[in-house]
Amino acid sequence: MIAIALVGLVAQSAAAQDAKTVLANASRALGADSLTSITYYGSGANFNLGQSNNSNGAWPRVNLSDFRRSIDFRAPASRATGVTFTIPIQGGPAVQGLFQQNVTPANTAWAQHLEIWTTPWGFVKGAAVNNATSRVQTVGGTRYNVVTWVTPQKAPSGVAYRVVGYINAQTNLVDRVDTWVENPIFGDLQVETYYTQYREAEKGLMFPSTIVQRRAGWPTFEAQLLSAVANPANIQELLTPPPAPAGGPGGAAAAPQAPPALTSEKLAEGVYRIGGGYNALAVEFADHIFLWEGGAQNEARAQAVFAEAKRLIPNKPIKYAAISHHHFDHTSGLPATVAEGAVIVMHQVNKAFFERALGAPRTLAPDAISRSGKKAIIEGIGDKRVFQDATRTVELHLLKGLPHADGMLVAYLPKEKVLAYADTYNAPVAGRTAPPIVAVEVMVANLERLGLDYERLVSVHAPNPDRPITKAEMLASLGR
Ligand SMILES: [Zn+2]
Repeated sequence: MIAIALVGLVAQSAAAQDAKTVLANASRALGADSLTSITYYGSGANFNLGQSNNSNGAWPRVNLSDFRRSIDFRAPASRATGVTFTIPIQGGPAVQGLFQQNVTPANTAWAQHLEIWTTPWGFVKGAAVNNATSRVQTVGGTRYNVVTWVTPQKAPSGVAYRVVGYINAQTNLVDRVDTWVENPIFGDLQVETYYTQYREAEKGLMFPSTIVQRRAGWPTFEAQLLSAVANPANIQELLTPPPAPAGGPGGAAAAPQAPPALTSEKLAEGVYRIGGGYNALAVEFADHIFLWEGGAQNEARAQAVFAEAKRLIPNKPIKYAAISHHHFDHTSGLPATVAEGAVIVMHQVNKAFFERALGAPRTLAPDAISRSGKKAIIEGIGDKRVFQDATRTVELHLLKGLPHADGMLVAYLPKEKVLAYADTYNAPVAGRTAPPIVAVEVMVANLERLGLDYERLVSVHAPNPDRPITKAEMLASLGR
C-alpha cells in the first residue's frame, strides 16, 4: 500500500515539475515573464450565440472595426471595445453601434473572466499559480504539452472550471486554450480559442495575429491583430469606460430589471394567454393541455407558465409544448419542459440540434434536466401539424422564406380566429403605425397562401404597453 502511494507521489511530483518547466518555457517564449498588463488591437467580429438563422448553421456575425482589448493581469480586469455595424433582422441599412465588454475584479463570473485567462499570456500566468499539470499529446501531427489547471472560481454546482492549454512543444507558444461554461441549452458548453501565426511586437512580446474563439463548434469571436503593447503606461485609462452621456445609455451597464409579473387572460372558452414580457398560449383539450411557447426566457419562467396553465386548466397534464423557433430567448426554458415530460413540438429542421444540446452533460450548473434525469421528447413537424379533438383545434404552420429564422412556426386557432406568432410584427405604441418591414410582408404572404382566417394576433413578444393586436393594425403597417 505504502509503496503504491509512494509511486503515485513520485509520478505526481514529476508531472508537476514538468508543468513548471513547460510553463517557464512558454512564458519566456511569449515574452510574458515581466508582463503585468497588455493591450492589443486589430479588426474582428463577434457572433451571436443562440441566434443562428438556421439551427444547424453558424452564429450570426457582427463585424468589429477598431477592435481593442486591454488586460491587467494583476487586478484582474479587462476591457474590450469596437465599432459595430449591425444589419437589422427585419431588413434596412446597417446601424452603427459600440461594442464594449468590461471584465471587473468585482464580478468574478467565469463567463467574463475567461476572456483574461484563456489568452496565451493569461493562460500561462493562471497555470503558474493554480497547480497545473502537464501531459504530452500529439494533435494533427503536432506535439503538444497539454497543461491543465482549475479556476479559483466555482461553478453553480460547486466544481471549479477547467482550463486546458495546448502549448506547442517546438515553439513553446500557446496554440489553443479550452474551457467550459454553463449554458441553459448546451449544458457544459466548450469554449475553444485558437491562436495562430504569432508575430513579435516590441520588447520580445509575442502575440497571435489570428484569434478564433468557438462555442458549440461555430465561431463566437474572431480577430486579426495588428500589434500588442506590453505593460502600457495608460493601462488604467484603457480599462476605464467613458462616462455615460447625459440623458442616454452609456458606459455603465443598466441595472437588471425584474421580469414582468405573470398575467393571464381568457381569450375564448378553453383558450388562455399567459403574459408578462413573453406571451404563451394554453389551450384546453379533453384530457390534456396544449402549450404554445412555454419554454421561453429561462427555466424559472417556464415553470411559472406551467403552474399558471395548470391553475387555469386544472387536473390535466401538459402533453404538448410547442416552440415558435429555435432562438435561445425562446428556448432557454426548455430544460423545464423536459422535466415536465411534455412533448416539445418544433419544426423538424431544429430536432437534431435540440436532441443533441438538451442531451449534453450538465455538470457545471444542475438544471431541471439533470435533476429530473429525463430526456427530451421532441416531435419535429413538417409544413403543418393539426392538434384536434371534439372541441378544440390548434394548427401549427411553417412560415417560409423569413430572413430571421428557418423553421419558424405560427399557431392558428381556426374557431377562435386567433393567430400566435413570434419576431415578425412588432406592434408600436398605440396610435402609431409601424414602418413596413420585410418580416411582416413575408408572414402576411405566408398567411394568405395558407388561407388562414384570423382576426386577433398574439405576439410572443408583448407590445409595450401590453394590448391586443388586430389583423387590421398589422396590415396597416404594410399600407393596406
Ligand atoms: Zn428570434
